[in-house]
Amino acid sequence: MREQPGIVIVGAGFAGICMAVKLKEAGYHDFVVLEKAGEPGGTWRDNTYPGCACDVPSHMYSYSFELNPGWSRMFAPQEEIQRYLRSCADKYGVTPHIRHGSAVTGLEYDDGRRSWTVTTEGGATMRANAVVSAIGALHIPKFPDIPGREAFAGPAFHSAAWDHSADLTGKRVAVIGTGASAVQIVPRIAPEAAHVTVFQRTPPWLHPKPDFAFSPAARRLLRLPGAARALRDGIYWALETRALGFAVHPSLMAAHERLALRHLERQVPDPGLRRALTPGYRIGCKRILISSDYYPALMRDDVSLVTDAVTEIRERSLLDAAGREHPADVIVYGTGFKVVDALAGRHITGRGGRRIQDAWSKGVEAYYGIATSGFPNLFFLLGPNTGLGHNSVVFMIESQARYVVECLRLLSRTQARALDVRQEAQAAFNRRLRARLDPMVWNAGGCHSWYLDEHGVNRTIWPGFSFEYWARTRRVKPGAYELIY
Ligand code: NAP
Repeated sequence: MREQPGIVIVGAGFAGICMAVKLKEAGYHDFVVLEKAGEPGGTWRDNTYPGCACDVPSHMYSYSFELNPGWSRMFAPQEEIQRYLRSCADKYGVTPHIRHGSAVTGLEYDDGRRSWTVTTEGGATMRANAVVSAIGALHIPKFPDIPGREAFAGPAFHSAAWDHSADLTGKRVAVIGTGASAVQIVPRIAPEAAHVTVFQRTPPWLHPKPDFAFSPAARRLLRLPGAARALRDGIYWALETRALGFAVHPSLMAAHERLALRHLERQVPDPGLRRALTPGYRIGCKRILISSDYYPALMRDDVSLVTDAVTEIRERSLLDAAGREHPADVIVYGTGFKVVDALAGRHITGRGGRRIQDAWSKGVEAYYGIATSGFPNLFFLLGPNTGLGHNSVVFMIESQARYVVECLRLLSRTQARALDVRQEAQAAFNRRLRARLDPMVWNAGGCHSWYLDEHGVNRTIWPGFSFEYWARTRRVKPGAYELIY
């Protein structure tokens, strides 16, 4: 007989663990967390590249219910965040619920039983009343379509799947891409490699990184009652002010641009290099990066920046659009992720056997990023349009986990078996969302980023302050849902 947990959570990263903690807190203990890998941690398990660290202050990039006065730095490194997540899973009793090595391959809603059939790799199935997808958005590596990619003779790997067996000492390394991952990688590998060639397509806007180690005394101070909370609150509101330029008007981004240009001027005296590194679009259109060692790394004699596109990859070199050949022993792809596909590429069928790809034929959308019409009791964490350009997504995850618990409470109160967001409610929500997003910097800032889908529609970002999202998702409006008995 197949297993029947009440609730299935897919993924044991920041979102999945948070959901599990909140379920237990609300008295729901009948759930499993299906995790494809052998360890929890999601993106913080997968990304092990040199220099990998948080780019949101750790006191904010952590759960509000599990403050950590012991963070070693303002921006903690990857292993520390991974350890933090594992310890949260242990402390809150989530670990025994996690099934490792359980990659979910299909979710099918059964109209008769009003339940979900969850299939995992290998064909095992289980039946659940509700499913929470906590799979994250940034985990399917995107490789560029450059002719000859397979012809390359040396190690070639993506930033999110770092090949630690490849020794870069004394090697010529080509790094393609200059996003959040690459700006952390380049300063770390430059001292050991013989030469690093950085291939830049679009220069990022870069702010200085106010990083520092917390001294033992500072950490002791942060253990005093209220101290870690006060620091977190201070960081939250400081970051939230950055939403002014996003949520109110792009012209308010001017101060951020000035800060970034001053940073560039201070760190890059060479006018030619500075020109090549000056973005030609509005700040905030792509994620604002933070680093105090990326520009200095580019200034090194053994690091070169190439701004012509890579047109071909050969056995031991890369050719650029100006016809120059750049020898390389190793290629690092810092080329980002397939963001929209992470959700839309899944095998999910809802009411009447409708495929999610058909429901989303005009684009990925959901109600508050959490529920999508025709797929009852299926909840998304970090779903469409709930990413942030200015603050910690952990804050969004917590709001969503609380909302899911509220939905489950509504089901208990009404004795309904399932709830399905009404198409009209979802459409009205998305109309308002589009009207707000269209004039904003992500769409109107003169760049193309992973925030936009292939039609230029923003499917990833929440357009306002994060506290607005928090307030709007505090209560479930029963009228927005059809209750299925
Ligand atoms: P990304 O921001 O999408 O950057 C990808 C880079 O690759 C861009 O510079 C892009 O150039 C370039 N690229 C893509 N295709 C290319 C091609 N065919 N030829 C040349 N260049 C190409 O990816 P990421 O750096 O992995 O970061 C993704 C997201 O992960 C970030 O935005 C952030 O949300 C998250 N992240 C967070 C942290 C953290 O510290 N918390 C660290 C890393 C990543 P274009 O700009 O021209 O497209």
